[in-house]
Amino acid sequence: MQRVAKCVAAFAFLFAQAAAGQTTVVKAGRLVRPENGTVAKDQFILISGNKIQAVGAELAIPTGATVIDLSEATVLPGLIDCHTHLADGKYGEGDPMLQLKKSASQTVLESVRNARATLESGFTTVRDLGVYRALNDVALRDAINRGDIIGPRMFVAGAYITITGGAGAMTGMAPDITLPWNFHYGEANSPWEVRQKVRLLAHDGADHIKVLATGAVLTHGSNPKSQEFTLEELQAAVDEASHFGLRVAAHAHAPEGIKNAIRAGVASVEHATLIDDEGIALAKQHGTYLDMDIYDEECIQEQGKNGTLPADFLQHDRELGELQRQNFRKAVEAGAKMVFGTDAGVCDYGTAAKQFKFMVKYGMTPMQAIQAATSSAADLLGRSDELGSVQPGKYADLIAVEGDPLKDVSALEQVGFVMKDGVVYKQR
Ligand SMILES: [Zn+2]
Repeated sequence: MQRVAKCVAAFAFLFAQAAAGQTTVVKAGRLVRPENGTVAKDQFILISGNKIQAVGAELAIPTGATVIDLSEATVLPGLIDCHTHLADGKYGEGDPMLQLKKSASQTVLESVRNARATLESGFTTVRDLGVYRALNDVALRDAINRGDIIGPRMFVAGAYITITGGAGAMTGMAPDITLPWNFHYGEANSPWEVRQKVRLLAHDGADHIKVLATGAVLTHGSNPKSQEFTLEELQAAVDEASHFGLRVAAHAHAPEGIKNAIRAGVASVEHATLIDDEGIALAKQHGTYLDMDIYDEECIQEQGKNGTLPADFLQHDRELGELQRQNFRKAVEAGAKMVFGTDAGVCDYGTAAKQFKFMVKYGMTPMQAIQAATSSAADLLGRSDELGSVQPGKYADLIAVEGDPLKDVSALEQVGFVMKDGVVYKQR
């Protein structure tokens, strides 16, 4: 339980603590309900321990309950970023090869700040999609769950499953350099090798599987326009993951890689940069979520200007940013299923909400953008019964902002109140 010292008194909230077993009532001036796309006025949210018990305009406040007055604010369910990399250490170091200068423990301890900044910016849950050093994300998730450190609910991939030298591999070394095992844990070069990696990751505590279907922008020697895993390898990943109850997220920029991933049955396509009309139609047909990180182009260009990003990464990125934004618009107009994901780590931790403005600029209504980061994200995680809206039985994950994010979605960049699991982590 922490009070955030840096917060100033911009909000006239009463500070209140919701500990396990305690009853709390949150008074919400406006409550955004992504589950049906509406906003309710003057609602009471009754919380017992870490769960929401009741929501309504006429609830009686139980004797002894802690009351949190957000009657001047807009309350929303905690936000969910469906594409993060919280456990790769300090932000902004540019070249992934610099990871080799640190031990696994240094990297994961540097990541403590990333987790906290993410939660304090209003993201109470993340779907983390891979680490350079395998299983650092599992360590970070478990430390948060134990209460040792502060951060969002993390669902983690454990490692990247990638071809040798591919988008998720640590590349750029001389051929006679041997990497430690945890830098190439997920390398696989046949359907059976893919199955073996899925089995290992399921055993090691992964919550989902991340595969790399095409090349990447931020990898040495990788071409984002090329296909990497074959259809057979992607099918092996989805089938094997299903044996463990795990879903698969596929990184894909190139159109054929996107379509192979959808046909193989992945739950989501990450980036979907060069998705074509056929790919959008296939995604709709299969019910595949598109997770398009359309803000981070700003940070790639910024890092390019100040010289912190390797030149070959900038070469890969040329023109892709704008094409991705145009394709995002096409996918929204076609009615494809979309979630909010930022590839956090490309931009700094705690700044993910800046993407909302871009999602609205490129075709979504503010409510659609909020749904992408709440109810739809919970559906992608397979946890609609626990997350993604403020309803009885769900985790007490709430945020609040001043103003009306349905008129100006950038209000979500200034989250003044954060509750996760019934505990208040930020209030100003
Ligand atoms: Zn990523």
